[in-house]
Amino acid sequence: MAKLTIRDLNVRGQRVFIRVDFNVPMEDKNGQMVINDTTRIVETLPTLKFLIEQGGKLILTAHLGRPKGQRETSMSLRPVAVKLADLLGCNVAFADDCIGEKVEQTVGIMKPGDVLLLENVRYYNEEEKNDPAFAEKLAKVADVYVNDAFGAAHRAHASTEGVARIVAKRGGQCAAGLLMERELKFLGEELEKPARPFVVILGGAKVSDKIKVIDRLLEKADTILIGGAMAYTFKLAHDVKTGKSLIEPDHKHTALAAEAKAEKLGVNFQLPTDTVIATPVDSGKLNKKGKPVYDLTNIRTISGDIPDDAEGFSIGAETEKNYAAIIRGAKTILWNGPMGMFEDPRFAAGTNSVAQAVVDATQNNGAVSIIGGGDSVKAINKAGLGSKVTFMSTGGGASLEFLEGAVMPGVAALSDK
Ligand code: ADP
Ligand code: MG
Repeated sequence: MAKLTIRDLNVRGQRVFIRVDFNVPMEDKNGQMVINDTTRIVETLPTLKFLIEQGGKLILTAHLGRPKGQRETSMSLRPVAVKLADLLGCNVAFADDCIGEKVEQTVGIMKPGDVLLLENVRYYNEEEKNDPAFAEKLAKVADVYVNDAFGAAHRAHASTEGVARIVAKRGGQCAAGLLMERELKFLGEELEKPARPFVVILGGAKVSDKIKVIDRLLEKADTILIGGAMAYTFKLAHDVKTGKSLIEPDHKHTALAAEAKAEKLGVNFQLPTDTVIATPVDSGKLNKKGKPVYDLTNIRTISGDIPDDAEGFSIGAETEKNYAAIIRGAKTILWNGPMGMFEDPRFAAGTNSVAQAVVDATQNNGAVSIIGGGDSVKAINKAGLGSKVTFMSTGGGASLEFLEGAVMPGVAALSDK
């Protein structure tokens, strides 16, 4: 069922309690915590601006890092309040707690359009336990509940689920922010009845991470293209030698079951026909964690068996070409998981050509292209193509769970339209 969004609300003069994702990377620079990447703050701005214009009193709650119930000053949200004020171009008040009398007093004097950021909600263990008494304390300053933190919505925490339930019980409305609305639209509605052909590209490290998603998408997709280290477990299941490649022998049966299901449902299920391999040679050096560092030598492309001393790191040029041709003809594309170890430029070509094909389909074939998964988003951005696809999920692990069809407590708690 479709969820209420902030467009459906009348928030004038109301205390709008908003769960946002401000879990930004920070770094200690001479005793000062500095924000390294403001993407997550920037992405929430449309929701906040909309609610400010509508005359709501904005009370923002978020977590930062893992303070484990302690007041960890390095994980204070104070620097975020400063940055947010800067980006919004208005005052943002900061409360050095997320519950209590001082918070209630501060909220008591807020005017329509004012913005208040509460301190890290994970300074309390009760947050992650979804403690009802703690949720009640948070909900004291909430007339309306808004969730714009898709990346945290797969967990039932006090700020993602408990407060919403309390607000709803009082007869208050619980709505998705604009960012959350987009996530639900593209990862949910768009894939319900996708324009065809619907091509799914799946890669990444492990079959075991992706099996639920493969299983679900087999029921929707016309074509599934497999890449990444995951492909080697499929190869292993067909008795192809995989050398030192990352494999999961325990999941050979999982791989075969997926292929059998594809055949039964008439899904065009493709594995790479060639692969880029290298021979790891012990450099004699140790990394920071004390583990031996291997030089990846003799990089070459092969098809068939991978030699015992070699390891596969990406799809080969022939696979790239075949996959790209299929992708360019798609009308809906979902991509989760890089085609290889793209972090190393020597193994990024496969991922980059697939990214380019996704962009071509979007720009020239009118395809809707949806990217889910933390590393997949990183790979597209690294290729400089982030702005040329239809949608990139902000959800990381949450997007994978959503695609698996899991019920997300933070979404379920929102009011139905
Ligand atoms: P996402 O975060 O998009 O869901 P995953 O976390 O499943 O993607 O997988 C991404 C990781 O898989 C990347 O760090 C990438 O280096 C790794 N990877 C992909 N192919 C290989 C490979 N052939 N060998 C080793 N690692 C690989
Ligand atoms: Mg990942």
